[in-house]
Amino acid sequence: MSHLAALTKLLGPDASLISDPDITSSYSRDQAPFAKSAPPFAVLLAHSAEEISIALKYANQEKISVVTRGAGSGLSGGANASADSLVISLEKMNQILEIDAANQIARVQAGVINLDLDTAASKLGLAYLPDPASRDWSSLGGNAATNAGGMCCVKYGVTSAHVRAMQVVLASGEIIELGKATKKSVTTYDMLHLFIGSEGTLGIITELTLNLEIRPHSPATLIATFPSVAKAAAASAQLLRFKPSMLEIVDQTTLKAVEAWHPLGFEIAGSVLIMQLDENLHRCEEALEVCKNFDLIDGVFSEDPADTADLIRVRKMAYPALERMGATLLDDVALPITKIAEFVEKVEALSASSGLTIGIFGHAGDGNMHPTIVHDHGDAAAATLAQKVFGEIVAIAQSLGGTASGEHGIGSIKSSLVADEISPTVMDLQRSIKRVFDPHSILNPGKKFPL
Ligand SMILES: Cc1cc2nc3c(=O)[nH]c(=O)nc-3n(C[C@H](O)[C@H](O)[C@H](O)COP(=O)(O)OP(=O)(O)OC[C@H]3O[C@@H](n4cnc5c(N)ncnc54)[C@H](O)[C@@H]3O)c2cc1C
Repeated sequence: MSHLAALTKLLGPDASLISDPDITSSYSRDQAPFAKSAPPFAVLLAHSAEEISIALKYANQEKISVVTRGAGSGLSGGANASADSLVISLEKMNQILEIDAANQIARVQAGVINLDLDTAASKLGLAYLPDPASRDWSSLGGNAATNAGGMCCVKYGVTSAHVRAMQVVLASGEIIELGKATKKSVTTYDMLHLFIGSEGTLGIITELTLNLEIRPHSPATLIATFPSVAKAAAASAQLLRFKPSMLEIVDQTTLKAVEAWHPLGFEIAGSVLIMQLDENLHRCEEALEVCKNFDLIDGVFSEDPADTADLIRVRKMAYPALERMGATLLDDVALPITKIAEFVEKVEALSASSGLTIGIFGHAGDGNMHPTIVHDHGDAAAATLAQKVFGEIVAIAQSLGGTASGEHGIGSIKSSLVADEISPTVMDLQRSIKRVFDPHSILNPGKKFPL
């Protein structure tokens, strides 16, 4: 009997097991441009942890690769399938099971879209804070599996700071609970956080218990221009004292791309910082005074929510403006914020020596930079060069004490770069952990680190 026939029989007539190639092909990849992928032999649109358990038990016994998929918004090829794999999609498991306002928690199925939870929480004066730019379509399970970040994470921390407990289906098919709904729990080894950022390689997250916070005050927004990235980066380190709920940087290459699309008046700036304060709102003037120590060209701020969209537009337009110039490859390195200026200088030199445009923008407040390599669509040689430069940018970050990924994950496009920043002993320990949870390596094999 084929695997498809066996799974159909085991899962029963109510299961949504799809093998139509017109449909399975749309489950073959995420948003990463150069990662390998192929349509899987089948896609299970799971309705429950029990269904996933049945499928995993069979896959484990038959040693079939299983790729878990949230919304497919990933940027590292993490949800990419191979022809011999089964994709398990969580998109149908999209129920908010409970919002407990008194305990400030929500219990959700893993397929719930991030923004849907925040919208529901907002009706009670609460907020689900982690805010990846993809929050209107990425799933909370995917956010947990990649430990997603976002702009407000400089103040509130990335997804891992907001997860209290989860339900997971192991490769064996066993359903387990990790963590507690309590705010504090140190009873066991912290296996909960081992699963956060595990990118579908240790188990399938089916349910999450998440922190909700009292909804922050609507922020004051400040925008400041500087003659160079070095000055803006140095200023950003000093602005952390104001406890920003957003602190973003945009370099001149990116500003030029934005100006070419929508002139916003930044043509003379070497760099721009955008900061939001959801407390200390009255300290914007003081923050601008600090910026003057770093050759501030100009700065404005407003507490009027109507102005916010205008003031942050340049940051929102950064990536789409670069995308207009050609095919893009988006890096996601993180480094000590005191090293941002040196990093940008080195990437600019790499841009000059490679002849490739590289725009740099990112989360200055937590050192998470997104250098974006641009090359001509359809130019195979330039695409190959861009992939090489992508790895070289990671190497620059690593040489400055940084890391290959700050929030997008390693997936398949960066797995070969992991060994460059951890010792062989730590790599062996990582592989040992993988073997404990997934002895036959059926879960997302080859992702996160090389097999
Ligand atoms: C325009 C755009 C903007 C973005 N902005 C940000 C940003 O600001 N910050 C940020 O961090 N990311 C960002 N991303 C990347 C992406 O949205 C995040 O990585 C997100 O967390 C992925 O969620 P997803 O549901 O789409 O997961 P997928 O892409 O489907 O999967 C991502 C990984 O998680 C695994 N996975 C998914 N669901 C589960 C589960 N239930 N159990 C176990 N493993 C699972 C997959 O196997 C895969 O390895 C952006 C992407 C786009 C396209």
